[in-house]
Amino acid sequence: MTDIILVTVTALVGLGTVIFLILNFSRRRTMASASHELQNVAKRMKCSADSSPDRMKQCSPPRHLETEELPCSSGDGPSASGLASSKRETHPNAYKEDKDEKKNFKHGVFKKISRKNGEINQLSKQKIKVMLSELKLDQRGSGDVVKARLKNHFKNQLLGEAGMETTCTQRRYDYICVIDFEATCDEPSPPDYLQEIIEFPVVLLNTHTLEIEESFTHFCKPVINPKLSDFCKVLTSITQAQVDHADTFPVVLNKVKEWMDSKGLGTTHTFAVAADGPWDMNYFLNIQCELSEIPFPEYAKRWVNLSKAFSNFYKTHRMNLLSMLTTLELSFKGRQHRGIDDAKNIARIAIQLLQDGCDLQVNESLQQD
Ligand SMILES: [Mg+2]
Repeated sequence: MTDIILVTVTALVGLGTVIFLILNFSRRRTMASASHELQNVAKRMKCSADSSPDRMKQCSPPRHLETEELPCSSGDGPSASGLASSKRETHPNAYKEDKDEKKNFKHGVFKKISRKNGEINQLSKQKIKVMLSELKLDQRGSGDVVKARLKNHFKNQLLGEAGMETTCTQRRYDYICVIDFEATCDEPSPPDYLQEIIEFPVVLLNTHTLEIEESFTHFCKPVINPKLSDFCKVLTSITQAQVDHADTFPVVLNKVKEWMDSKGLGTTHTFAVAADGPWDMNYFLNIQCELSEIPFPEYAKRWVNLSKAFSNFYKTHRMNLLSMLTTLELSFKGRQHRGIDDAKNIARIAIQLLQDGCDLQVNESLQQD
């Protein structure tokens, strides 16, 4: 009888120990797994805080953080790269960026493209123009421009033959909003002169039709220096009456935002802001927002610097608006230093870049202290 009790007690103690060990092991695994997940989330949050577009591609923030954490997302409006996160997941443009990462550069077609580029490098400008003419392509532009155009034509042809995606078949954004501010100025400029935005133009470029769909401009009433200098009036052709009768900058900024919303920019359509350099957003808009004591608009925190895109695509040095037009053998249309005319001419450069196969994308972001 005693033996039976002893065996039963021993068996129960053994069973209890086994159950304890199993439960403890399971708990440790759960804790380890949770800790690992937290580390991953922290890593992804660190990644998503980096504003570099290339860096962004390498990171995939957790789903629930996408809206708040992605630098291109917006709290008060559309994002610079176009869409809210939920939309981005299903939009073809998101698909394109994914495919870029998976592009197999070992594919034989890239050797063919490289060989073709080498052949084109040996050709004279005259010969390239003859070939462009035979292909019924635009022959205008400097040697660098026509060379890039011809190379891109064959690149897209070879990619198409290989069944691969080309820049002609898909655009990164549905629309590009070209902005070119004009601001108060004087000559000579007094020390610590604060430049206020007096013209806010927007040119809406449809990247699929390559047409300017809409354009408008708003004048803004300067507050610190309400009286325009003679130098400023001559330079910009903006009159004192135009700014006197205008709204102040915060009111204009709201009107622009309302217009963007009415066009479905950032909701129905992807879009990016573009300018001819870093200064419109980094300098003029930045200073103006501080002066007006309003937040910097989210959609303008990242933009397409067309001067940078131009020099990278055509392999030229960095140029201003007039030099880029000259290089494309285009003449300036309208009045220089009038914001709306400058913006329309910048849009013409963007159209030419897209036509020649440049994959225009955000390449500049707000420099903050
Ligand atoms: Mg201008």
